[in-house]
Amino acid sequence: MTNMEVETQVRKFTEAPLHLLIGGQWVDAADGRSFESVDPATEEHLATVPHAGDEDVNRAVRAARAAFEDGSPWRTMTPSRRGKILHRIGDLILEYADELALLESLDNGKPMAIARVADVPLAADLFHYMAGYATKIEGETIPFSLAEPGRYLAFTRREPVGVVAQIIPWNFPLLMAAWKLGPALAAGCAIILKPAEQTPLSALRLGELCQQAGLPDGVLNILTGFGDAGAALAAHPDVDKVAFTGSTEVGRSIVQAAAGNLKKVSLELGGKSPNIVYADADLDQAVRGSAGAIFFNAGECCVAGSRLYVERPVYDEVVAGVKREAESIKVGRGTDPDTQMGPLVSREQFDRVTGYIRSGLDDGAQVAVGGERVGDRGYFVQPTILTGTSPQMKVESEEIFGPVVVAMPFDSPEDVARKANATSFGLGAGVFTRDIGKAMRTAETLRAGTVYINTWNVFDAAVPFGGYKESGWGREMGHEVLRNYLEVKSVIADLK
Ligand code: NAP
Ligand code: MG
Repeated sequence: MTNMEVETQVRKFTEAPLHLLIGGQWVDAADGRSFESVDPATEEHLATVPHAGDEDVNRAVRAARAAFEDGSPWRTMTPSRRGKILHRIGDLILEYADELALLESLDNGKPMAIARVADVPLAADLFHYMAGYATKIEGETIPFSLAEPGRYLAFTRREPVGVVAQIIPWNFPLLMAAWKLGPALAAGCAIILKPAEQTPLSALRLGELCQQAGLPDGVLNILTGFGDAGAALAAHPDVDKVAFTGSTEVGRSIVQAAAGNLKKVSLELGGKSPNIVYADADLDQAVRGSAGAIFFNAGECCVAGSRLYVERPVYDEVVAGVKREAESIKVGRGTDPDTQMGPLVSREQFDRVTGYIRSGLDDGAQVAVGGERVGDRGYFVQPTILTGTSPQMKVESEEIFGPVVVAMPFDSPEDVARKANATSFGLGAGVFTRDIGKAMRTAETLRAGTVYINTWNVFDAAVPFGGYKESGWGREMGHEVLRNYLEVKSVIADLK
């Protein structure tokens, strides 16, 4: 398709009436409410989507439960067929990659060119990877010792956990949907997906593609709406499991809401990830890597390297290098082909990030570069480095979730390990050094779910991702994620 045709298709999608997906039907919210999705580059109306309320939550949970009943098309489908549907979803994502990249760019603000080479193919790859697991979910036979050999046969079955609510954020809308849906579908669960209010569009388009791929009605239900719909799902007595990605604060409320029926919970939460540059590092690589660690996706990455620790002898040189990188980043509309950084996702996020920058300055930090809004329309913020911070400052301890890094010198491996781990988060961490021994020791010391060595922001469907400490429970991706969606049943038979 030409660019023009892609644009026409996407406009057709955003301008058509959009609906909730419940039980295989595209429907309005029960009470007819809707809300707007806004283009963060222009602050203009992009699309109108249904605003799901309690009745819609109940309808979607009933539809998912029906799809999960014994004897339903989903429960009686062979694993091989399930895998083929997942594979087909991945194929369709690639077939419509240009459209999805544009849709994502308009709704979230991110550069379309980056969505086209990162978000979209990674989402497809996740489905392709998970497709293979549908036929490989196996139990074990277990030798018995409390009776004579041959008396008992004991084996385990891995069964889908049931009806799953999945609540996702706005920073990688399509990719987060893929991370959640892929393993839950491979496991054979039925799902209610709640995309973020800021970025509901790619999930709706993905819902169409899932139908096109042959997913039976009710296996995937999609509710566009706000936090109250997420909260109702997390508290719902007929939901067996809730999987959440977003803020630590909401993560905590999910845990409380889940306590009613003790539904299973997995959480992928925030971070304040330390990035350590030793003096012996390849400094060009370290500078590029450190800039990418914080400025990729405008810093709206849960794993952003937002605390930069540089060994004192090279501190000035590295900070100057990251500053040059920051100055060279082209900030603009995501739909411009040469844009490297788009706007923040929303007015709320813009206010939050600029508020953090102001609080840093009020507390006595200095701006090495950036610190300002770009233009007077759209939620654009300059790539920013703050120096002269201290652990008491909010900018050094709290997740900003924008293109803002605090840079700090350190004096020894022990010094930096202590500082790096002095946080309630534990999502990511990184180290730049040419010394393999030092790299390995640092990787072992850092209390984080992912440790990058001489790189950052590298993901693969096969590599688990998730948090230590208050950065979450459970892992996304890899075979680890399947645990989130499977129950283990032990079957014991007396063979006498
Ligand atoms: P958030 O409120 O945690 O939103 C994440 C998802 O949870 C959205 O779908 C949201 O719906 C839903 N939600 C909100 N309140 C809920 C509740 N009480 N129960 C169940 N679901 C609920 O995140 P945010 O407010 O958009 O962003 C705030 C901060 O969270 C960011 O600045 C950043 O620090 C952090 N964050 C982290 C990640 C991550 O990947 N770990 C991603 C995004 C944001 P609505 O969209 O309607 O609120
Ligand atoms: Mg929110």
